Amino acid sequence: MPETLAEAVARRRTFAIISHPDAGKTTLTEKLLLFGGAIQLAGEVKAKKDRIQTRSDWMKIERERGISVVTSVMTFEYEDTVFNLLDTPGHEDFADDTYRTLTAVDAAIMVIDAAKGIEPRTLKLFEVCRMRDIPIITFVNKMDREARDTFEIIDEVAEKLALDPVPMTWPIGQGKSFVGTYHLRDSAIRLGDSERELTKVNGPEVVAEKLPEHERQDWAEMAELAIDGYPAFSREAFLEGHMTPVYFGSALRNNGVRDLIHALSEFGPPPRAQVADVRTVEATDPKMSAFVFKIQANMDPNHRDRIAFVRVCSGELKRGMKARLSRTGKQMGLTAPQFFFASQRQLADTAYAGDVVGIPNHGALRIGDTLTDGEQLVFQGVPNFAPEILRRVRLEDAMKAKKLKEALQQMAEEGVVQLFTPEDGSPAIVGVVGALQLDVLKERLKAEYGLPVSFEMARFSICRWISAEKAADLDKFVSSHRGDIARDLDGDPVFLAQDGFSLNYESERAPEIRMIAIKEYH
Ligand code: GDP
Repeated sequence: MPETLAEAVARRRTFAIISHPDAGKTTLTEKLLLFGGAIQLAGEVKAKKDRIQTRSDWMKIERERGISVVTSVMTFEYEDTVFNLLDTPGHEDFADDTYRTLTAVDAAIMVIDAAKGIEPRTLKLFEVCRMRDIPIITFVNKMDREARDTFEIIDEVAEKLALDPVPMTWPIGQGKSFVGTYHLRDSAIRLGDSERELTKVNGPEVVAEKLPEHERQDWAEMAELAIDGYPAFSREAFLEGHMTPVYFGSALRNNGVRDLIHALSEFGPPPRAQVADVRTVEATDPKMSAFVFKIQANMDPNHRDRIAFVRVCSGELKRGMKARLSRTGKQMGLTAPQFFFASQRQLADTAYAGDVVGIPNHGALRIGDTLTDGEQLVFQGVPNFAPEILRRVRLEDAMKAKKLKEALQQMAEEGVVQLFTPEDGSPAIVGVVGALQLDVLKERLKAEYGLPVSFEMARFSICRWISAEKAADLDKFVSSHRGDIARDLDGDPVFLAQDGFSLNYESERAPEIRMIAIKEYH
């Protein structure tokens, strides 16, 4: 019998991995893909990264600084579950990209380095997940190294994140003596990911025999404590974002990864309902809807293509269908939607809620766009952050101003930078959240458009989107501050302030004007 829409949706899991750089996200990603049969050999994710890097000049930045700039998506299947893993850039200068990606997931795996505990970037990303009630599965990695006391790690999760952690497994030893995990609720062990099934055991004392003699007594006592000392796992509390199941392991040594996959399939949420301006769209709604959360250029340098990554929210996205782009009301043919696996793309004939597909296009699609099969609706929530660095772009060859304008527009549509056009006709201003984004812009303008540029300090350092209850109030504010007003890519007005002091001054003088630092795409 063919699969129903409800069945197809129910077996999908869309998630991201959040962590501080170096905690082991890349290693864990490789191992997850290995399980899904998406790659043959671990190491391929990095190898692939290298290949892409050698292809394109601007990626030099990534190579030189050893950071991952590119967000991508990886689809894999394990047993009966279809997983869509959305990768996020590790460096905080690309935080806006990461936050947008998190709007497209239903769950996250939080990777913690067992020796370091909760690090700043983990905390920040966790807060974003909390704002969106994204359930979190905790993975304490690198147990094969010297680690902190297990209870201490769990306590830290409780204290720093105000979450109820429930250990589902318990590490058998740590550092040199780490051999695997004890499953507290099943009274069973798994010594490595290659073991498909858990092995039942009669209590912690038996497990302790896997450890050197002098560690046994202590370990058995601690395991008993762990069994009794935490509340029972509640899937409901987890899905609401109050509780996190905690797993231990070593991604490098293939320990604990299988447990994570099982946890995601078993407790992880199926695709959630998504809020649009006119209604909430259930994942099992038969009408197709999707939104764009990321644009990536240069996936294939031979064809100057742009891929819009869309998350399907409902219905079936079918290859060849005509979709309606809500921003413009125009139809667009989805002739070549693609799934991404670790090392290849494949045409996607049908995608369901939770799936992430790439749609090649030449600039028709922008971040935040909604696609439907006819209905006029716009998904809410893909955020746009007020840039923290504002610069004017200085062109070495003034004859190329028009080309620069086009290039900046394209970069802005991709989300590389934000572009603001001053009302008074002065040169465009670019805004970024992190300084590395400027480096990327510079490299790309040079490599892809042949436009060597430099950046000049702008007179402004703060930018806020402005609006008012009454249109007349906004018009008045705009005309009396013309030198400090610019329009963003959508034509929405922003107020540019020299510093925090002048921002406060102006907002106190004009209480009827709302000034906001985060705009949701609409
Ligand atoms: P990312 O920056 O979070 O993507 O971290 P990586 O996956 O690149 O890992 C950072 C470093 O930690 C690399 O040298 C990995 O080999 C190492 N690493 C990752 N997981 C483990 C683990 O479970 N045990 C040990 N000993 N090292 C690990």
